[in-house]
Amino acid sequence: MDHFLYRDGQLMAEDVAIAEIAAQVGTPFYVYSSATLLRHFQLFDDALNGLDHLICFAVKSLSNVAVLKLLGDAGAGMDVVSGGEYLRAKAAGVSGDRIVFSGIGKTHEEMRLALEGGIRQFNVESEPEMQVLSDVAVSLGKIAPITVRVNPDVDAKTHAKISTGKKEDKFGIPIIRAREVYAMAAKLPGLKVIGIDVHIGSQLTELEPFRLAYRKVAELTEQLRSDGHKISRLDLGGGLGIPYARDNNAPPLPIEYGALIKEEVGHLGCEIEIEPGRLISGNAGLLVSKVIYVKSGEGREFLIVDAAMNDLIRPAMYDAWHDIVPVIEPAAGADQTPYDVVGPICESGDTFAKGRMLPVLQSEALVGFRSSGAYGAVMSSEYNSRPLIPEVLVNGGQFAVIRQRPTFEDMINRDSIPEWM
Ligand SMILES: *Cc1c(COP(=O)(O)O)cnc(C)c1O
Repeated sequence: MDHFLYRDGQLMAEDVAIAEIAAQVGTPFYVYSSATLLRHFQLFDDALNGLDHLICFAVKSLSNVAVLKLLGDAGAGMDVVSGGEYLRAKAAGVSGDRIVFSGIGKTHEEMRLALEGGIRQFNVESEPEMQVLSDVAVSLGKIAPITVRVNPDVDAKTHAKISTGKKEDKFGIPIIRAREVYAMAAKLPGLKVIGIDVHIGSQLTELEPFRLAYRKVAELTEQLRSDGHKISRLDLGGGLGIPYARDNNAPPLPIEYGALIKEEVGHLGCEIEIEPGRLISGNAGLLVSKVIYVKSGEGREFLIVDAAMNDLIRPAMYDAWHDIVPVIEPAAGADQTPYDVVGPICESGDTFAKGRMLPVLQSEALVGFRSSGAYGAVMSSEYNSRPLIPEVLVNGGQFAVIRQRPTFEDMINRDSIPEWM
């Protein structure tokens, strides 16, 4: 559920009319609902009630500092995958002991940044990384707390581009080699082994893959303990999916996911971390765009909108579906017609939807792309020299721009012409 509902014929973000934001900010823009973000965080927190736990928001899904501060102030930790994300979390006031560092390609510089600024743990993904992290820690006179990310070889049954827990995926250490890798970690002077990490993919719509993966992690915990390692923390990753189309089967709820975690690993006495991104941020965001033209093609109508694949790449990249809603509520029983909803960019991939049934729309009409909070703004680019679009945060009856739209000058002046020209 979210807080983008019609009231008196107008699509609202909480208590603010989307049309009012559009009038002030211009289109296109992203708008996020504080209430929805907090509610989703709370669902996870409640689902793990009774376990010693920390919900680490996956910063990569929506990394605006204001959003991180909102969640951080509510008690969330952060899961970061780069030095830039680490610094964003810090800028949002999240202390290092609530920041987890994931990712397969951490550089020396990123390791140093996190060790100096404080870190809850590194989720290490390879032996060479382990060696480098130990060296960097020793050079700084520090000890790096680590988990090893294991690859459990489980099919997450999700889109291939966001599956991460099969043996052919680039992530983690094959679970069958975990014991020898932990033995190596224990010998490195700059590391302190504290637990195990696993993350099998994103947009999972079934619980069974989680169950298989967590069962393997539970077995491994006992093996590693019998090998003499102190395993006190399990990071179980993120990945719980969200409903993108409102009439589809809904994925499992956080409460069901929490129950599964308790069943599979609750008896181990470990502190539990999870790293949800999409489920917290996805349905908390709307991309708002304006119809520029309605164009008749051969046997089809194109709705050309002012947002494009550079603003929201998910349809082009993952064949993703986003519900599209008019900002003015259509009359009950109003005629619908199929539209190809496209952006202005010069490639056919810039298509949000084909043959989408929508009420009849004219140019200047505003539409919202639902479920755009996760992997929306963060994946945007300036392709076609379209400046990044603003982000707006709503809280009850108030709203604020939390990232300004750059001017064309801002964008162009980042380039420089060499002196020799
Ligand atoms: C992407 C990612 C997440 C978040 O995944 P969601 O599907 O957004 O919940 C969590 N942990 C790691 C390591 C990731 O790479």
